[in-house]
Amino acid sequence: MPQKKNKSHKLAFIGAGYVGLVSGTCLAEIGHHVILVDINKEKIDKLKQGAIPIYEPGLEDLVKRNVKAKRLSFTTSLPQAVKKSDVIFIAVNTPPQPNGRADLSYVAAAAREIAEVADSYKVVVDKSTVPVQTGQRVAETIKRYNTRGIDFDVVSNPEFLREGSAIEDFMEPDRIVVGVENRRAEKIMREIYAPVDAPFIVTDVKSAELIKHASNSFLAMKISFANALARICELSGANIDKVTYGMGLDKRIGQHFLKAGVGYGGSCFPKDIAAFISIADDMGYDFELLKAVEKINKYACNLFLQKIEQALWVTKGKTIAVWGLAFKPNTDDMRNAPSIPIIEQLYADGATMNAYDPQASQTAKAALGDKVNYKKSMYETLKGADALVIITDWDEFKNPDWSKVSSLLKSPIIIDGRNMFEPRDMEKSGFVYHSVGRG
Ligand code: NAD
Repeated sequence: MPQKKNKSHKLAFIGAGYVGLVSGTCLAEIGHHVILVDINKEKIDKLKQGAIPIYEPGLEDLVKRNVKAKRLSFTTSLPQAVKKSDVIFIAVNTPPQPNGRADLSYVAAAAREIAEVADSYKVVVDKSTVPVQTGQRVAETIKRYNTRGIDFDVVSNPEFLREGSAIEDFMEPDRIVVGVENRRAEKIMREIYAPVDAPFIVTDVKSAELIKHASNSFLAMKISFANALARICELSGANIDKVTYGMGLDKRIGQHFLKAGVGYGGSCFPKDIAAFISIADDMGYDFELLKAVEKINKYACNLFLQKIEQALWVTKGKTIAVWGLAFKPNTDDMRNAPSIPIIEQLYADGATMNAYDPQASQTAKAALGDKVNYKKSMYETLKGADALVIITDWDEFKNPDWSKVSSLLKSPIIIDGRNMFEPRDMEKSGFVYHSVGRG
């Protein structure tokens, strides 16, 4: 945890979503005064009542502590927050458009609103993930809409936190990236992050923007590489877990993000890779490598569906138990979760699904509606089911009572999209066990 003494700044966060809420709260925790703004009144009302609109381990206590210390507050009034702050972080959503391009309308709206009310020098920090050259557009927008001609600086400060371990990631990051155009903005950004003990990388704005897209794309590329290898393992009779372990021991490669499975999902990778391909295209570069990453990812999900279909022969009329809906463990985020296309396809084929997720049942209802029956425990899903399908590797699923699983399932078939168990152990326990890339 951070130790150094901090110079306190007045900060506003536009957008109190996963990133705004976590990073704003963490910056309050290290001594700054933070106002979180959101256009979603329901979200702000909840936060004012002490409720946390998302599931993120440790966040509730941190929010409560900083509200009590009067370092953290919530509002729907952007003008109020901007006027009271010296540094304004834009942490709004940058969702994908149907053509893959990032929808920057929320960023543009925030920049315009800031410009219209700013009445003194402001540092405007883009924390949302945006394509290279967005900072330039934000600066132009502020200049255009600020009739008072205030002095301002635009900074790029991409966020690398992961849902599920967001607080730790923010407080103990691998690096802090800050893209600035002058020393004044750099000094303020250094002061803001002074208590955080991490490499502080200062670049120009465009390079900082690119670091974020490049990092996410590289990680997605590792996952797709592992999934492509997994297919080769299946076709050749090798074992993907052994192969990636052997590769990952090479320090130049590393073990992280080499896990084969149903493919990546979530609110970041799919949209950021699509946006990176689009911006590269706009600039005249055909990023074929990333196009292949996307293609392999889709293929991994389809292949998993095929495995379910092959294991059950006919899915129509079958009951399938599903463990895990969120796009990864320790979050309730369902955005681009692989569970969605998998369940939608099985539903279209006429299967009945009983699903359980430790945290994402509520958010899953918005994405999947009544295409699944939501159960209160992992065991409840199994009663009378023809097979168990594992989509998210929550810790809760790691040590099940196998005799209970076996007695509840109608037939002992398990299709595991996360390679949670050893095939040999499963077969010994009497299960017909299918996983990814293992023989
Ligand atoms: P989110 O959808 O959870 O939150 C965005 C919030 O901004 C919403 O609550 C929305 O109501 C609010 N908003 C939109 N326009 C607004 C406006 N004009 N004024 C006030 N509030 C406004 O999104 P998120 O997951 O927090 O992501 C935010 C950005 O950070 C995205 O660009 C994302 O790619 C990036 N990012 C996300 C993660 C992650 O793990 N979620 C990690 C790193 C970076």
